[in-house]
Amino acid sequence: MTNFKTKVIHGGVSGDATTGAVSVPIFRSSTFKQKVLGGNVPYEYGRSGNPTREALEKLIADLEGGVRGFAFATGLAGIHAVLSIFNAGDHIIFTDDLYGGTFRLMTKVMEKTGLTCDFVDLTDLEKVKAMIKPNTKAIYLETPSNPLLKIVDIEAVAEISKANGLLTIADNTFATPYFQQPLALGADIVLHSGTKYLGGHSDVVSGLVTTNSADLAEQIYFNQNSIGGVLGPDDSWLLQRGIKTLALRMAAHEANAAALAGYLISNDKVAKVYFPGLESHSGHEIAKKQMSGFGGMISFELKDDSKVKEFVESLKIFTLAESLGGVESLIEVPAVMTHSSIPKELREASGIKDGLIRVSAGIEDIEDLLADFSQAFDKI
Ligand SMILES: *Cc1c(COP(=O)(O)O)cnc(C)c1O
Repeated sequence: MTNFKTKVIHGGVSGDATTGAVSVPIFRSSTFKQKVLGGNVPYEYGRSGNPTREALEKLIADLEGGVRGFAFATGLAGIHAVLSIFNAGDHIIFTDDLYGGTFRLMTKVMEKTGLTCDFVDLTDLEKVKAMIKPNTKAIYLETPSNPLLKIVDIEAVAEISKANGLLTIADNTFATPYFQQPLALGADIVLHSGTKYLGGHSDVVSGLVTTNSADLAEQIYFNQNSIGGVLGPDDSWLLQRGIKTLALRMAAHEANAAALAGYLISNDKVAKVYFPGLESHSGHEIAKKQMSGFGGMISFELKDDSKVKEFVESLKIFTLAESLGGVESLIEVPAVMTHSSIPKELREASGIKDGLIRVSAGIEDIEDLLADFSQAFDKI
C-alpha cells in the first residue's frame, strides 16, 4: 500500500479482527488478563500498551515511513519523551524560531536536568556547522516555522547531522505527512502536535512521534512508558478518525490558503505576506523541492499596526483564537497571543512585528472567506 490517500484510510490497523467492526474499537481497559503466570501477552497495562492507541501509533508510523509510532497526551509530552533520550551534558541545536512551548520545555525544564542547547537560524547552514560542539547530539528543526513560515532545508540539515554523528529531529506539525515526510529526507525522528492538522477538528489535544530506527524506537518507548504521558483510548480513536480525512482536508486548507495569500498580496493595506507558495517567499524554492504542497498557514503584516485590533475583531467567519489546523478558519495576533511571552525586542528582532497577523485557513467556502476579509479591510 503506497498511495497516501489509501494509507490514511487503511494504514496502521483497520477495523477489528475479532468482531469485524470496520472502525477500530475503543478499548477502555486499564489492565489485561494474563492467561498464564509470567507468559507473554500483547497488552498488560494501559500505560505500557493499549490496542486503540497502538492502532494510531502504527498509523503515524505508516504515514511517515517510520518503524514504530508513539501517541502522547499532548505534543509537548511527546517532545519531552524524545528530549529525554539525551543525557546530562549533551547539547542540542534548535531552530531559533522554535515553537514557544518547546522553547519553554527546553529552557525551563530540560536545562535543569543538565541538557544544554543553542538556538540558530537553521536556514543559515554555515552558522549551523559553526554551532556544533563535541557534546552536540542532535539538530531540532521545524519547517514551515511558526509564525513566519520559514523553510528549513531538511535534507541539507540531515546531511550536516550525519557528517557529525548527530540525530535530526523534525517537528512536522505544520506540513503534516501529506505534504512533507522528513524521514525520507534524512531525519531520524519526526514529532507532531496531533492537536493541529492530524486531529483536524479542534477537538482533541495529542502528540505523535515516529522514527525509522529500531534502536531509537526502543528508547522512545522506554521513555513513553516511564514518563507516562500516553494518549487515552478515546482520544486515540478521535485522532484516527481525524486522520482518515487528512488528505482531503490538507488539499482544501492549501487551496484556501493560496487564494487568501493571493488576495492579501494585492491589497494595499497589507505590507507583507508570508506563504511558502508565493514566489516572493524566501523559502519558496526549498519548499517546492521538499514539500508536495505549501500548507494551510499564512501570515501577513498590516501597513498600519494600530488597525490590527479593529481588523481581527471585525471578522465574522474567521475565529479569533490560538491554535491551528482545524476545519474552521482561525486568526490570531502573535505579538499579543501565541508569542506574547517573548520580550518585544527579541520578538521584533526575529521579524514578529506588532502588526503581524497569522491565519490558519479552514476549509470553508473560499468566497465567504474572501468576503469576510474584504468587509474587515473596508472597516480599517
Ligand atoms: C502546538 C504545537 C506544539 C505543541 O503541541 P501541544 O499539542 O500543544 O502540546 C509543538 N510544535 C508545534 C509546531 C505546534 O504548533
